Amino acid sequence: MTQGFRPDSFYAFDRCEECGMCLFRCPSLGLTLQRAREEMRRLRLGEPAHLIDRRCASCFSCNTWCPNGCDPYGLILYRWFERYRRIGLPVRALPAMPLEKGNTTDMAMRRHTPRERDMVEEWRRNARDPGRVEEAGGTVLYAGCNALMFPSLLDTSLLGGLTVMGEKELCCGEVYFRLGLFDVVERQARVLEERFRRLGVRKLVVFCSAGYNMLSDILPRLFGARFDFRTEYLGDYLLRRIKSGELTMGRLEGLRAAVSDTCHGKVLGRRFLEVPRRLLNEIGLEVAEMPRSREYSVCCGAACGARRCSPLDMGRQALAQWEEARRSGADMLVTYCATCLLLLHIGRTLRPERLPLFHLMELLMESVGEEPPHRLLARRARGVFAGAMAAGAPLMLSRRRARL
Ligand code: SF4
Ligand code: SF4
Repeated sequence: MTQGFRPDSFYAFDRCEECGMCLFRCPSLGLTLQRAREEMRRLRLGEPAHLIDRRCASCFSCNTWCPNGCDPYGLILYRWFERYRRIGLPVRALPAMPLEKGNTTDMAMRRHTPRERDMVEEWRRNARDPGRVEEAGGTVLYAGCNALMFPSLLDTSLLGGLTVMGEKELCCGEVYFRLGLFDVVERQARVLEERFRRLGVRKLVVFCSAGYNMLSDILPRLFGARFDFRTEYLGDYLLRRIKSGELTMGRLEGLRAAVSDTCHGKVLGRRFLEVPRRLLNEIGLEVAEMPRSREYSVCCGAACGARRCSPLDMGRQALAQWEEARRSGADMLVTYCATCLLLLHIGRTLRPERLPLFHLMELLMESVGEEPPHRLLARRARGVFAGAMAAGAPLMLSRRRARL
């Protein structure tokens, strides 16, 4: 056991029967049941699990398949946490870390339009002033890194005047969690606890599924965060307003959309995974499922970098997700996560793709007659990719390791 965190907080050792189903059904490992059982036994004993370290896409799916609710993905993360404590993190991972200097969020923010800069400045003020939160009745929309990269996705009347708050320092810790950097996640849990309490937040509407899962479950359950607010996913907030008649959506008839599901969406469950689909239906789009969707879906490529911090793994996975989209026969690929949007745009930069790619918010904006920031998002994603390549190339060759 490593000091400070106990493995049984992340994984239910006592309930696991070593049946191997979690790793047997894994879309990335490709194991026979026998090998899946052996790999699971090694993971449990803390012995080297080379197949996991080489092939795990860090996609959360195994948690959804365990019949005993053991959270096998939590055990994988715990082993990566031990690895990090032992040997640190390759420096090539640093550009992906939202709290480090010169990371990809910074690269995106340097490319903001003047309008977006004003929006983000307003979000920062809201995140520091209890008076503003009080004026909003204690209900605010949390803009994490996802929204900070692409603020235009929240430049819409669909929010119904919600007060948006966010700044880089209020990172939810998701990227650190997926790499097993639990010390950083715990630090962020304390930062968020203190800030939200001081601001008097009573209800937090969350833009992205990762932030929603971190703030509503992972930080309180695994890192002891004591939050005094309720959370609601933005998709649920929008659906609720549509159903109550507060929002009237137009219809974009005659098109079929493939949905790129998120890793966090899977563990949030079937009901959660239906939310983006229901929103697409509300605006007249039919959903064409990819061969692997919902809890079987593959990662967009972002989390795939976790196993060995390799941009090549991320790029390959993004291309695999595009292949899934093509096989669905859809007219477009839709994601409800801005990081997935970034990775999928990078995928289409690596291999040109005719199928259009949208963030769900873009389509909702279009349905109510607003101009979606389509070209801006694509240009920004390409710019971030070019920036990450330029900044990351020297780090790729470095053998140095870092501790955060
Ligand atoms: S974690 Fe669950 S699915 Fe995996 S081996 Fe244990 S009991 Fe079976
Ligand atoms: S996290 Fe995903 S890729 Fe990794 S073992 Fe679990 S199902 Fe497989």
